[in-house]
Amino acid sequence: MSLLVVGTVAFDAIETPFGKTDKIIGGAATYISLAASYFTKDILLTSVVGGDFPKESLEMLRNHGVNLDGLQIKENEKSFFWSGRYHNDMNTRDTLATELNVIAGFDPIVPESAREPDFLMLGNLMPSLQHKVMAQLRKRPKLIVLDTMNFWMDTALEELQKTISQVDVLTINDAEARQLSGEYSLVKAAQKILEMGPKVLIIKKGEHGALLFNREQVFYAPALPLEDVFDPTGAGDSFAGGFIGYLAQTKDISFDNMKRAIIFGSAMASFTVEKFGVERLVGLAQDEVDERVQEFIDLVQFDISLV
Ligand code: AMP
Repeated sequence: MSLLVVGTVAFDAIETPFGKTDKIIGGAATYISLAASYFTKDILLTSVVGGDFPKESLEMLRNHGVNLDGLQIKENEKSFFWSGRYHNDMNTRDTLATELNVIAGFDPIVPESAREPDFLMLGNLMPSLQHKVMAQLRKRPKLIVLDTMNFWMDTALEELQKTISQVDVLTINDAEARQLSGEYSLVKAAQKILEMGPKVLIIKKGEHGALLFNREQVFYAPALPLEDVFDPTGAGDSFAGGFIGYLAQTKDISFDNMKRAIIFGSAMASFTVEKFGVERLVGLAQDEVDERVQEFIDLVQFDISLV
């Protein structure tokens, strides 16, 4: 089923306790599209880059089956740039710089042929732009998933709340759930956030897995205990890409299938963190993905019979 992805395609500079990168490619939509490409090949990406973005990275996305007809290239401008530094626990980070550059004047245009997608993934981006993409669609997709972050809660809360009210699934991390709801308990935070509009909320907790809520139920997926966590950047986006990619592949948006989808999302995130940037997510073999998912199954399977 067709998947429309919007979000940043960017340069990142990252510092972790294990090393530091100069500008490498990143961006929410980059990670989402790559992760989703292991589940569906009908992906169209809408975003914008400057003339400085490497052409071979665009080629790499095309080689993953990502259609770039909705990607604008502004030759005389600079790509979005984000820089972050991770703390020793790797679960928390400080944003050192967010330079909107080409995103500041971005007017997303979804190509005519992609205006009736089955699935819409609104990756991290200015909420007003996420909204503009939704407004261009001819009919409501089967499922709209929104990912966002504290930066937009701090700088564009009203616009963000409007966008949140119109989506089916919201994915944010635990600190962002607390910020958005004003509640410390994640259960209370989830209740409040679900009242804002979404039917489903996913709270990502980094190395502590992810929680999936609807109004009646809650489900938990662990993160895989990995020997080497090198760089968590893009883990949340890879999670979202695996999640929506799996739903698009299986054409089933029930809560039970979402339980499976967050395992696939967690599997894709577990690859991303093993190397800097998108390196580990590029060119995975299907066997590797299957084996990783099997590790999750083995991790949480237990045999208890209550008498
Ligand atoms: P994640 O680690 O999953 O939260 O995503 C990190 C990616 O998000 C990086 O590759 C950044 O380029 C991108 N990013 C960082 N800040 C923002 C922002 N304010 N809006 C959109 N994308 C962002």
